[in-house]
Amino acid sequence: MYIPNELVDRVIESNDIVDIIGTNVQLARRGTNYVGLCPFHNEKTPSFFVSRERQMYKCFGCGKAGGVITFLCEYENLTFREALKELADRAGIKLPEEDDSVQARQERKVKDGILEANKEAATYYFRMLRSDKGQQALKYLTDRGLSRETINNFGLGFAGRSGGGLYEYLKSKGLSDEILKQTGLFSFSEKGVFDKFWNRVMFPIMDSRGKVIAFGGRIMSEVKDAPKYLNSPETKAFVKGRNLYGYHLAKRTHKDHVLLCEGYMDTIALHQAGFDNAVASLGTALTPDQAMLIARISKKVVITYDQDQAGRNAALRAIPILKDKGISVSVLEMTPYKDPDEFIKNLGADEYRKRIEAAKEAFFFEAETLHQTVEDNVDSKTGFDHEIARKIAFIDDPLERSNYINAVSKKYDIDKKALLETVNKYGLEAENIKLARETHEMVVQQRNKMIKPEEGQLLAEKLLVSMLANEKRLFAKAKGLVGAADLSDPMCSRLFEIVFDLYGDGREIELAKIVNRFDDAEEQREVAEILEPSMYREKYGEKELDAAFADVVVRVMTNSIEAKMALATADKDAEAFTDLMTRMKKIDEVHRKLLVSDR
Ligand SMILES: [Zn+2]
Repeated sequence: MYIPNELVDRVIESNDIVDIIGTNVQLARRGTNYVGLCPFHNEKTPSFFVSRERQMYKCFGCGKAGGVITFLCEYENLTFREALKELADRAGIKLPEEDDSVQARQERKVKDGILEANKEAATYYFRMLRSDKGQQALKYLTDRGLSRETINNFGLGFAGRSGGGLYEYLKSKGLSDEILKQTGLFSFSEKGVFDKFWNRVMFPIMDSRGKVIAFGGRIMSEVKDAPKYLNSPETKAFVKGRNLYGYHLAKRTHKDHVLLCEGYMDTIALHQAGFDNAVASLGTALTPDQAMLIARISKKVVITYDQDQAGRNAALRAIPILKDKGISVSVLEMTPYKDPDEFIKNLGADEYRKRIEAAKEAFFFEAETLHQTVEDNVDSKTGFDHEIARKIAFIDDPLERSNYINAVSKKYDIDKKALLETVNKYGLEAENIKLARETHEMVVQQRNKMIKPEEGQLLAEKLLVSMLANEKRLFAKAKGLVGAADLSDPMCSRLFEIVFDLYGDGREIELAKIVNRFDDAEEQREVAEILEPSMYREKYGEKELDAAFADVVVRVMTNSIEAKMALATADKDAEAFTDLMTRMKKIDEVHRKLLVSDR
């Protein structure tokens, strides 16, 4: 879906950058500017400047700079579109919907309804915890060492002892049964409607924007057959494995690493102790989607799972998933304590900080865990050596490989030469896997080309080719930004390639010669029609040409990225998806650069 540039401009103009940044960073007036401590790097004296006049910000410490959209993208880790949506919502401007079909609208309606119900439910639980009925639950939380402030920050609540109250409350807020059925908070039967959560401390689960998408509940007293922790089922607003507990807070901290822990209480205890970069994977094994979320905010993770065998196994499973997203991983030791909560209660935050610094690189953690299973015989030892060699073979960087070979041969008494040989042998296997991956990416690209363009898109592609063929100076602007593969119409893509090749060879374009490259009369007619300059000269005057060109390039780029994103989603290729998001974020920058006339 394309958002016209005028609309983007209107959204930007309707928001004041000082207000937007001011809600996140404390700013003080200095002359015509505002200054504050930079949210993107650590500093004690302010070097972060915001200009109301120019609607720009710049940090003289780390060099980060931009406009209101760049700020939201960087600070909140939003995509360009998400940032635009947030600003549009603030200003009460309606953006065109991504998919305007009846079904899509209906689904959005349900999702919004569930979010609304969740928000009200969170308020209900929140008040219940602070009422007379919630005293036992509140005592439980304070006994576990949580401060009032922490309890408020995480919006903790209590589902009443007997249940039933939430349904009445939400009905009184005007929410329909149709929506309430889909929230997963109730069971509807002939006998009536029952709250699923009762007599539990409630943990609202929020998405990256801080919207309540689900709940976790911890039971207050032992009830036969009742699970200790109960989570909301999946709904239209909540897909398990796509969210992390504490993420909406952790993403704002901009620390150089993320702490990955197991559950609600660990996350909360860590935040309370000042480690506000902690997230938890919500009662499931870490998923690639969750790893991708983490990669959006940091490329370094310290795993702080429970010290028991289950925790070690969970860490071993999480390591490759994180590494696959380009994240470097280390594992934290909390001996003699079981988890972060217990550790900090006994030894304090400073000791915990030391453990973070001493956290073991994932490779050595894996090697050590493996080594614990080695028995005192040659077979077992050889099996271990092979497994280690195989692991080293999969490391891309040759220097890193060599460092590991040195370290491991010493630590586990393995002959270095033999280890090196074995690593090289397994290296072949690693190469093959890499090759298979690249081939897969090529297939995705081929499929991408086959997607049928919609009408407006086709027009944009034709305009792009025509402008390029007739205005040589535009070639320099488009070079490096768009390629033939970004055009979805096969004919436009082919013409683009021809035009680019000719310019690339330093030659002039003669339309007739290009037309003559095609044998088929029908194709010749089509080519001539596309390349004919009146196509755009009738629409745009000489002065408007640069702006029109910028729009067309951005449109083609956006469409290409979106098509690839759809494929990456279908293929569950989170890595590609992240790359595409980074490209998408840069689009407004590209647009601005294109607008600068070179005449
Ligand atoms: Zn800075």
